[in-house]
Amino acid sequence: DDADIHCGLLVLGSGPGGYTAAFRAADLGLDVVMVERYPQIGGVCLNVGCIPSKALLHAAQVIDEAKDFARHGIHFGTPRIDLPALAAYKDGVVGKLTGGLRHLAGQRKVRVVQGVGRFTSPHTLTVAVDGGEQRIRFEQAIIAVGSRPVHLPGFPWEDPRVMDSTGALTLQDIPDRLLVVGGGIIGLEMACVYDALGSKVTVCELSKDLMPGADRDLVKPLEKRLKDRYENIFTGTRVARAQAVDEGIRVWFEGGKAPEQDTFDRVLVAVGRLPNGGRIDAEAAGIQVDEHGFIKVDRQMRTNVEHIFAVGDVVGGPMLAHKATHEAKVAAEAAAGKKSHFDARAIPSVAYTHPEVAWMGLTETKAKAEGIEYTKAVFPWAASGRALSVGGEAGMTKLLLDDQQRVIGAGIVGPNAGELIAEALLALEMGADVEDLGLTVHPHPTLSETLCFAAEVAHGSITDIL
Ligand code: FAD
Repeated sequence: DDADIHCGLLVLGSGPGGYTAAFRAADLGLDVVMVERYPQIGGVCLNVGCIPSKALLHAAQVIDEAKDFARHGIHFGTPRIDLPALAAYKDGVVGKLTGGLRHLAGQRKVRVVQGVGRFTSPHTLTVAVDGGEQRIRFEQAIIAVGSRPVHLPGFPWEDPRVMDSTGALTLQDIPDRLLVVGGGIIGLEMACVYDALGSKVTVCELSKDLMPGADRDLVKPLEKRLKDRYENIFTGTRVARAQAVDEGIRVWFEGGKAPEQDTFDRVLVAVGRLPNGGRIDAEAAGIQVDEHGFIKVDRQMRTNVEHIFAVGDVVGGPMLAHKATHEAKVAAEAAAGKKSHFDARAIPSVAYTHPEVAWMGLTETKAKAEGIEYTKAVFPWAASGRALSVGGEAGMTKLLLDDQQRVIGAGIVGPNAGELIAEALLALEMGADVEDLGLTVHPHPTLSETLCFAAEVAHGSITDIL
């Protein structure tokens, strides 16, 4: 055996899927090696995804709220933005978390190897490190190599004024006019940040609506706010081509109400992500990868190769950190010989825009498309004292119910929607009905009461029928 390193479990990738799997497996007594190409562990989520974007969205919220409060008699004036200091704040948040992960890995004796890993057989992987390479022999493996942003062809990617989400998060400057290509969650979150910092934002979305997949009534309050603030929102429109010119990035639009062409100071392309399964020589280990780069797994997160598992963005489904971490625990436990399997009934989606939009379980969009029966109960936040006092009067809480009045879906739009949706998730996982929600004493005055009120709306309609 000519391997440099031997281990019980190899984890490839150190994002939320990778580090969660590594830590859980180590806690269960496995001898773990985690391989990561970058010096920083934590993957997309910690370094260039969830965490830095939320740090900047918080800054944006402070600016937005300060501005909005002029209506109520408090004038802060125009904010003076020290961009390097703002970037340092964001990097500080990220650094604390990635540093914490290092510490947790050390505590658990998880060995971290830096370099690009590729399979060479069902039990071996080589890691390319600075010209040399290290060979690792493993008994079992968990693949958590994540995904990368789609780089649309026809854009001058070599020009720094064309950015993906990673580029946008570095905050090189505040462009006067920014075009965001892609009106999904990531595109709209970054649009929110740059709008607050002072850019004139245009959003271009191929579908006929912003945030495709979410129910229209949930997106409406967000759309209304963005329409008032942004230079333009073009839906049903695609960017056919883009070219770098001295004045900026010139783009040619097709469809919708967009002009034929326009020139922007920067362009952010946020049109989706591609899995990295095709870049690890999976075939050398006999692992099946589909034509897009997704790895197929069963409910224990096992690939077609019995002793190799895969989790996170690379296995498909919603590309979300909380999905990756839950799958990772299942894979680690299965690798340790437990009978765990993934059976979450719902995976929540949250757009941390202003206002936030959150949903889980069944959506009306899906129910209508698939002919699933449901009833709904809606509580408009204009009737909530707390919502009115925090500027959330455009918000709404919606419950979708089955014929037993059990919660099978929920949608919330308004400040803190992402926090509030968790209660609906618990209701769904526990099989709670509207009476359970309505009879639970919620603190007053809070936004959480809107779930209780929506449940009472539904419950009231039952007594009407009775
Ligand atoms: P990743 O986090 O992608 O980690 C994979 C790791 O594997 C990377 O570090 C990569 O360098 C490494 N790797 C890949 N190939 C190799 C190789 N051959 N050798 C060595 N290492 C390798 N999700 C949410 O739930 N909430 C959010 O608010 C949210 N916001 C986001 C905002 C942005 C801007 C972006 C881009 C994403 C956001 N996401 C969010 C999605 C979330 O980041 C991903 O779903 C999550 O990171 C996936 O975790 P993962 O472990 O599968 O993969």
